[in-house]
Amino acid sequence: MKFEDLGLLPELLRAVHEAGYTTPTPIQTQAIPIVLQGLDVMGGAQTGTGKTAGFTLPLLQRLARHASTSPSPARHPVRALILAPTRELAMQVHDSVKTYSKYVPLRSVCIYGGVDIKPQIAELREGREIVVATPGRLLDHVEQKSVSFAQVEVLVLDEADRMLDMGFIPDIKRILAMLPKARQSLLFSATFSDEIKKLADAMLKNPQLIEV
Ligand code: AMP
Repeated sequence: MKFEDLGLLPELLRAVHEAGYTTPTPIQTQAIPIVLQGLDVMGGAQTGTGKTAGFTLPLLQRLARHASTSPSPARHPVRALILAPTRELAMQVHDSVKTYSKYVPLRSVCIYGGVDIKPQIAELREGREIVVATPGRLLDHVEQKSVSFAQVEVLVLDEADRMLDMGFIPDIKRILAMLPKARQSLLFSATFSDEIKKLADAMLKNPQLIEV
């Protein structure tokens, strides 16, 4: 299997090749066509499997279909929300998003706590289609009304088991309640406890199971 066989846009293939990848990993081969179809996913994958590209590449492709090149921030609402348990992971995922989105007109921001909130607010005001965030700081932005979820089309919950261990499930549930019901949702977790399954039930519609 080659990246070219997965139905990805030339703009994304170019970024993948520049990243030095020659062959998709098993999770990428499985996840990319499913996410491109707009289906929900319950993915069992550890870090190091290439899962970030597995969800980011098709997510970018879906958003790129209706990407706006207008300079007006109002034309760049948040369309994808990627939640990660820690600042380090959020930063890593955001780096991947930036790498793969180099040739598509989509902008992203990384939102995490422990730093001044004002520069994050300024970035959100400029218009960002993709928000990679830790849950707590994202809720601070909700309270400050610096972010709107009205146009969110895709939700990704990365490392759901670590979210659970860190006590973020109430925050996740608050965020879920604010998102449009008509959306695509992807949940990734290294393990599937009953609690993760309950969360998946609340979040996913007819999920396709992917395990590597
Ligand atoms: P992840 O599991 O998403 O954290 O990715 C683990 C590492 O594998 C990252 O450093 C990626 O840049 C790299 N990677 C992802 N996909 C591929 C691929 N198809 N070929 C080679 N390296 C990859």
